[in-house]
Amino acid sequence: MNKPGTLTFKCNICGTMCEAQAAALSREEVSCKSCGSTVRMRGMMHALSIALFGRALTLPEFPERKDLLGKGMSDWDGYAKPLSKKLGYINTYYHKAPKLDVTNISRDDEQSVDFLVSTDVFEHVAPPVSIAFENARKMLKPGGAFVFSVPYGLQGETQEHFPNLHEFKLETRDDKRTLINRTRDGRIEEFSELVFHGGEGETIEMRVFSESGLLKDLQQAGFNDVQIMKDPYFEFGIYWPSPWSLPIIARMTHIPVKVLDWGPKSMSVGGVVNPQADGRSAMWLKVAYVRPGVNLELRIGDHVADGLVVTDDLITGLIPFAVLKTQSTQSVSVADVDTGSRVRVGFLMVAE
Ligand SMILES: [Zn+2]
Repeated sequence: MNKPGTLTFKCNICGTMCEAQAAALSREEVSCKSCGSTVRMRGMMHALSIALFGRALTLPEFPERKDLLGKGMSDWDGYAKPLSKKLGYINTYYHKAPKLDVTNISRDDEQSVDFLVSTDVFEHVAPPVSIAFENARKMLKPGGAFVFSVPYGLQGETQEHFPNLHEFKLETRDDKRTLINRTRDGRIEEFSELVFHGGEGETIEMRVFSESGLLKDLQQAGFNDVQIMKDPYFEFGIYWPSPWSLPIIARMTHIPVKVLDWGPKSMSVGGVVNPQADGRSAMWLKVAYVRPGVNLELRIGDHVADGLVVTDDLITGLIPFAVLKTQSTQSVSVADVDTGSRVRVGFLMVAE
């Protein structure tokens, strides 16, 4: 018999059945005896599976898709090796080949991958970290996925430890590791309360992210579709008791549709324009582009227009009677139902 509170799960990295005390699972402790995975590593691969395939697959179940191109940033070998066998994935490093410095990418790196994997790297990137987020977004093909994690807290803003970092070195002074920085305008700064992750050296902690600071960084870098993996996935032993530092899937989705013209832009209360069989009016949108396979919704004010017909160059939908009841200004927009990404069209004026 298992002890109460024992969780039996399948490690989604190696496929082995494991047991762990649910209450003892934590982000950084090894909880698969077979491959040595932690909740963080399993959470990262779970997020990647959701991002690429829309469902929860173990790594051994990933389809062989060499056409899906991706890069890791100093990824753990435990998943980097199987990933490189299944997908068009290569792991990269800051100090050795194949190299990638996310703060300094080349033209060839732009729009080169379908996915990027980065776990607990961005807290070590020299400031300003905004460049790293922007470059991650630039490296992705349209709609590509940035699957990443950093330690973050829930309160306040991101705390930069060395906001003026420019030219710096680490020295030992009075037995204390000390960071000496020469700022851009030539001032010398010294810091001795340093935090290192995973041993000393290049893994100095540059900042502590906050969730809101992180979301702001992502948004400013152009990621309009961000999903924090807040739900546990017990089947894969992915559960940590704290609601922070969770894996994130970030994308810049293509605009769902490009609208050239539309109408009617004004109607009278209770009026009818382009009458349809049931007496309702039709709204039309002339479009230059509709993203293939997109699931669209036309919103007029608080209402969703039904009877939506979408072709390559025209969208039509029925204007709900409720919209025309009183004098009002109704916002018109088209949204991608699946991602929530929305294109504002304009306003429908309803007048007496
Ligand atoms: Zn395992």
